[in-house]
Amino acid sequence: MSAPAANLLSIVVPAYNEEAVLAMFHRRLAAVLDALDMAGEIVYVNDGSDDGTLAMLYALQQSDGRVAVLDLSRNYGKEIALSAGLDHARGAAVVVIDADLQDPPELIPALVARWREGYDVVYARRLEREGESFMKKTTASIFYRLARRMSQVEIPADTGDFRLLSRRAVEALGRLREQHRFMKGLFAWIGYPQIAVPYRRAARAGGRTKWNYWRLWNLAIEGITSFSLAPLRLATYFGLSVAGLAFLFAAWIIIKTLWLGEAVRGYPTIMVTLLFLGGTQLVAIGILGEYVGRIFNESKRRPLYFVQGYRPAPAVRGGPDEDLA
Ligand code: UDP
Ligand code: MG
Repeated sequence: MSAPAANLLSIVVPAYNEEAVLAMFHRRLAAVLDALDMAGEIVYVNDGSDDGTLAMLYALQQSDGRVAVLDLSRNYGKEIALSAGLDHARGAAVVVIDADLQDPPELIPALVARWREGYDVVYARRLEREGESFMKKTTASIFYRLARRMSQVEIPADTGDFRLLSRRAVEALGRLREQHRFMKGLFAWIGYPQIAVPYRRAARAGGRTKWNYWRLWNLAIEGITSFSLAPLRLATYFGLSVAGLAFLFAAWIIIKTLWLGEAVRGYPTIMVTLLFLGGTQLVAIGILGEYVGRIFNESKRRPLYFVQGYRPAPAVRGGPDEDLA
């Protein structure tokens, strides 16, 4: 990769079927960059959209020389789209922001100010989640509390992916090539001085969220199993204590039978024990399976993504990074 331009701020924007909001988003972002005392580069990552998003991005590039368009070969999901954008960003600092205007571009100067004070990761912390259901807020808060308890890294609560990363933080992230990319965890894992800037999270400006509870649930499992061995340990302890209890119970039955003899009663006890032990085993095997599946995926060592086309921003110097996969 060519040397990062010292006074260049890159903005990475993953976009998947965002034609409803892109024009408005770009107008607001461009206005912020115009006012900033740094040169700007906007790396839009088209994550395999099947609407007019890509055409709109190319049109934006025609009218604004700061726009780079990275077109992925299919939909890889936001976490990988983000990583692809980070790989192609050339600035001395990189801001990651959603295209749907839930993250206000107007906050960027505040993030930059903190970066200039020497922080490597400046994350935006939301004060309120407007336009989100009670259910989503509650589940999100439970997840953050669980994740914090169970893993070694401090994943800050109430932060999305909206943040600024220094060049060395971007390089550090770029070296983490695991397939299971829980970005919020990875951001925290790399360390370096980090600080929060509070803001008010708006509702989506248009289009629809791509998340539903099933995807969120999967993201939560991803987050916990990628950063913690606690579920495995839990299975061990749970298995041990159940086995201990079962052993005591068996001893008691043997003694009782030797002492009193036994008619063929006791069907309920047998059933209960059987089902309980079976259930515990299934839970433990399931947890094991989660981890084995991850080992399986990582051991394939596949590249994270393939690029279908990359058009670097014409107005930004520092040659195209053609060699990046
Ligand atoms: N996104 C993406 N690939 C996907 C899903 C989403 O690049 O498979 C982008 C999307 O275009 C948006 C950002 O990720 O810019 C956040 O998505 P969304 O608003 O659906 O998530 P939410 O804000 O509801 O968490
Ligand atoms: Mg959103």
